[in-house]
Amino acid sequence: MNCFYHPASPAVGVCKYCQRGLCSECAAVVDDVIACRHRHEDEVHKLEQLAARNLFQSKRVASGYMRNAIFYGLVGVVFAGFGLWQLKWLGLQAVMFIMLGVFLLYAAGANYFEGRKHK
Ligand SMILES: [Zn+2]
Ligand SMILES: [Zn+2]
Repeated sequence: MNCFYHPASPAVGVCKYCQRGLCSECAAVVDDVIACRHRHEDEVHKLEQLAARNLFQSKRVASGYMRNAIFYGLVGVVFAGFGLWQLKWLGLQAVMFIMLGVFLLYAAGANYFEGRKHK
């Protein structure tokens, strides 16, 4: 493959934005990848930034789900446990606590699986 802009010069790399061959004169290194010098440097930089940001976001989302799962799980166990413990004395009110606890445990499970999906 030869340079797209200089057909006589052999290409040393390919622009990440337009996939054209570039000689050593035309190749610019942006964020560790090759771009057309003065043509696609900005575009490649934006592409790389976008990719890095997506990676960071999906990581943050996954850990957020896990944190929610742990929080809901703990609160759910406390509520359900309290309800079971107080069932004899509080009756219907205790059943409400148990139901709330079960709901929170369900939410914890949903968050846990959602978090695993984003890993
Ligand atoms: Zn290019
Ligand atoms: Zn060239």
